[in-house]
Amino acid sequence: MLTGIHATFIGGDARQLEVIKKFIELDATVTLIGFDNLESNFNGAFKRSLTPEVLHDVDAIILPVVGTDEQGYVESIFCSKPMQIKDEHFAALPAHCCIYTGLAREYLKKLAASFNLQLNEILDRDDVAIYNSIPTVEGALMIAIQNTDFTIHHSNALVLGFGRTGLSMARALYGLGAHVHVGARKSADLARAYEMGLEPFHIDELSGYVHKADLIFNTIPHQVITAKVISNMPHHTLIIDLASKPGGTDFRYAEKRGIKALLAPGLPGIVAPKSAGQILANTLSRLVLDQMEIRRNKGGS
Ligand code: NAP
Repeated sequence: MLTGIHATFIGGDARQLEVIKKFIELDATVTLIGFDNLESNFNGAFKRSLTPEVLHDVDAIILPVVGTDEQGYVESIFCSKPMQIKDEHFAALPAHCCIYTGLAREYLKKLAASFNLQLNEILDRDDVAIYNSIPTVEGALMIAIQNTDFTIHHSNALVLGFGRTGLSMARALYGLGAHVHVGARKSADLARAYEMGLEPFHIDELSGYVHKADLIFNTIPHQVITAKVISNMPHHTLIIDLASKPGGTDFRYAEKRGIKALLAPGLPGIVAPKSAGQILANTLSRLVLDQMEIRRNKGGS
């Protein structure tokens, strides 16, 4: 239970509603900032404006998955007023307050560091990344189906990268009956792909493997689908780039060659906001609880 914990949510999208619900269920005291237009009222949560005064007794600040932008602005789909987190807000927080977000930009990192506040980025945790790969893969399959006139079954599908998303992607494609080729650089990843019945190749040899590719799913956040690689692809190849912006594809050259290449960021929040929110809710509530235990063991109130 989160009894006695004051959690303040600043901005967010539909995913954040699941997190708020969970925190209220666990008996936290919940303040909502930037939720003015939210129609459903959460029993026991208080809506406030972003001022230093409302932050003085907060134990946990929960920001949207994307944190702030480089000027400190926080997005909220439930509020039309811009919200900017500044020095004066973090200065008002108690020293033990922890900040939680998906991935933090430099602005937020510097702000937290300058007030010596603990910043937790949860999207890069293994557990969250693996759970998140489930809606990501479903979203990638949806895009593939919407943008092709052939079945995934019996298609030649290349998955680039065999980390937390790549492995789930390859497994799902294999389950649908595709011929799955996996491009990775670690020998252990190549061995695992082979063990799973997939066809592994070293990523450095990518240009030799694309001439029969119907579908390419990239999860490598570096430009691996270069102009040279694209020039070896058949015209019908569809590239779905899942890697974080700017992706791993030379999009300019793909367009010039008439190859369809789609950058598809943020799929969990788009295709399954409820499930994606529940993934965040479970992790965040556990982290806040752990933080509370650590503080109690140190003798904090
Ligand atoms: P991950 O577990 O770190 O996997 C990344 C993979 O890329 C690993 O196989 C890694 O190989 C490989 N890689 C990285 N740099 C490389 C390079 N220079 N050359 C060759 N291979 C390289 O990451 P993940 O959690 O699967 O996420 C992958 C990407 O998808 C990230 O950019 C993430 O932000 C993004 N993502 C997007 C969505 C979406 O909705 N589109 C959802 C979730 C994640 P090594 O292990 O050898 O380094």
